[in-house]
Amino acid sequence: MTTAPMTAPAQGTDQIQDAGHVDVLIIGAGVSGIGAAHHLRGKFPDRTFVILDAQDNRGGTWWTHRYPGVRSDSDLFTYGYRFKPWRGPSIAAGGAILDYLDEVISDDDLDQYIRYQHRATAASWSTEDRRWTIEVTRGDTGEQLRFTASFLWMCQGYYNHAKPYRPQWEGLDRFQGTLVHPQRWPEDLDLAGKRVVVIGSGATAATLIPAIAEKAGHVTMLQRSPTYFFAPPTTHELATMLAPLDLPDEWTHEIMRRQYMMQYHWLARTSLDAPDEVHAFLMEAIRPLLPEGFDIGKHFTPRYRPWQQRIAIVPDGDLFAALREGKASVVTDTIETFTEHGIRVSSGEEIPADIVVTATGFNLSVFGDVAFTVDGEPVDFTEHVTWRGVMISGVPNMAYTFGYFRHSWTLRVDLVCDLVERLLSHMQDKGATMVVPTLRPQDKDMQIRPWSDPENFNAGYVMRSQDILFKQGDREPWIHMLEHDEEMETLPKADLDDGSLAYS
Ligand SMILES: Cc1cc2nc3c(=O)[nH]c(=O)nc-3n(C[C@H](O)[C@H](O)[C@H](O)COP(=O)(O)OP(=O)(O)OC[C@H]3O[C@@H](n4cnc5c(N)ncnc54)[C@H](O)[C@@H]3O)c2cc1C
Repeated sequence: MTTAPMTAPAQGTDQIQDAGHVDVLIIGAGVSGIGAAHHLRGKFPDRTFVILDAQDNRGGTWWTHRYPGVRSDSDLFTYGYRFKPWRGPSIAAGGAILDYLDEVISDDDLDQYIRYQHRATAASWSTEDRRWTIEVTRGDTGEQLRFTASFLWMCQGYYNHAKPYRPQWEGLDRFQGTLVHPQRWPEDLDLAGKRVVVIGSGATAATLIPAIAEKAGHVTMLQRSPTYFFAPPTTHELATMLAPLDLPDEWTHEIMRRQYMMQYHWLARTSLDAPDEVHAFLMEAIRPLLPEGFDIGKHFTPRYRPWQQRIAIVPDGDLFAALREGKASVVTDTIETFTEHGIRVSSGEEIPADIVVTATGFNLSVFGDVAFTVDGEPVDFTEHVTWRGVMISGVPNMAYTFGYFRHSWTLRVDLVCDLVERLLSHMQDKGATMVVPTLRPQDKDMQIRPWSDPENFNAGYVMRSQDILFKQGDREPWIHMLEHDEEMETLPKADLDDGSLAYS
C-alpha cells in the first residue's frame, strides 16, 4: 500500500508545499481516526490514505487529557473497537486506553500513515477536479502544506483541544492562587496539603476528585447543579465469572460487549419510558454510599431527566469514599465572585482555595474549525442538515465520524466505518467519483430541527453551541443521534440508492 509522500524539507514558512494526493484523507488520530484507518486499510488495501493530526501524538482526547486519575466512564468492552479485544478491567485509566490504541496502530502498521503536528485549516472541494484541497499548517515548523484527496473523512472529535470552556467569573483576576483546567494539567502541580476547589460535577470532576483527595489538604466540589452518578464495580461480575474459564480474548470481549450493550439499551429505553423509576433507582443506589445525614436532595438530585445528560460513572464509588472520609466535600451554589484567596458563592460563604480546577467543560468545535468551501462557496454548516449523522447535505465526498454521547463513542465508530466502506464500494461499483447528500423532492418541506433536541439531550456544551452546528430534519435519512440499539439495525441496512445521495 502506498501513501502520501513524506513532507518535503522546510522551504520557509510563506511558501505552500505540495504534500501529495491520497484517495482518502482522515483528519484526527484519536479513537475515531484510528478506527477509520483500520477499517479502510482492511477493506481497501490498494487505496492510499493519510491521517493528519494537530497534536504531537496519537489518542486525541486521551493524549490531551492527562490529569490525575483520568479514565473512561464507559466500559472498555464497548469503548474498545469491535475488532480488537479489550483485556483489562471494565473501566480503564487514560494511559491504558493509549496503550490499547498503540496496539491497534502497531497491529495495522498505521504509524507510517499518521502526520502529527499537521493542523488542517481549510478544505475546498472542486467538482471539476473531483477532489478536496486541504490546507495544513505544521505546528512544529510553521510550514504551510497542501494535500489533495478524493474523499475526506473528518474524525476530529467534537471539541476544541486548545481552548477549554471557562465561564467569565467576576474577580478572577484578583485570585492569588493557581487556576488549572483539566485539559491542560501542569505536570509539576504540587497538591500536597493544598485546598483545592474543583468547579463542576461532571465526569471529569468525579474522576479527578478521588484521585487528588489523598494528596491534597481538602477538595471541594463546587457545582451549580447536581449530576447523576452511578457506582458500578470496576470489574463487572460477569467478567469475574468468565475469568477462570480461560476463554479466548475474543470471546470474553464479545460476551462482555453484549452484556454492556444490553444494560445500556435497557437504561436508555427505561430513562425515556419510566424516568421516575430510573431516577429513584439511581438515588437509592448512591444513598448508602454517602456520609450519614448528607443532603442528597441538594447535592445529588439533578434537575433533568436521567440520560438527558450523560450519567457519570464512579467505579467502586471512589468519589463517595472521599466524601465519607472527609477528604472531599460538596458545595451546590453559584459563584458570586473570586476573591484573593478563594471563591465566594451566592449564600455568602467563602470557600478558601490555593488551587482552583475549572472542570467546566469544552468549547464545541465544528469539524475541527476547518474552513470549508464547495466550488468556491464557503460552507455555512448551520444551513445544512446531516445525512444519518455521517455526511452533510450539499457537501460532496465527505464523511464524518461522531460517536454516541450517552453510549460508548466507539460503538458508533465501527458502525460509521462500515457505512463509509459500503459507500466507497458502492461508488466504485457505480463508477461514480462524487457523492453528495441532496434533499429529495419529498424532503423539501421537511421541518428543520436543531442539532440536538434539548428534550432528548441537553448537556451544557451542546446547548451553548447549537447556533454554530449543522441541523437535522424530521425523518430518515436526515436525522442523527439515535440510540445505539436503533442504529445498529438501521445503519447497516441504510439504502444508498433511496435518492438522498446523488452520484456522478
Ligand atoms: C476526559 C474525558 C473522558 C471521556 N470518557 C469517555 C468515555 O468513557 N466514553 C465515551 O464514550 N466517551 C468519552 N469521552 C468522549 C471522547 O471525546 C470520545 O470518547 C472520543 O475519545 C472521541 O474520539 P475522536 O477521535 O472522535 O475525537 P478526539 O479524541 O477529540 O480526537 C480528535 C483528534 O483530531 C484532531 N483534530 C481536530 N481538529 C483538527 C484539525 N483541524 N486538523 C488536524 N487535527 C485535528 C485533534 O488534535 C485530536 O487529536 C471522554 C472525553 C473526555 C474529555
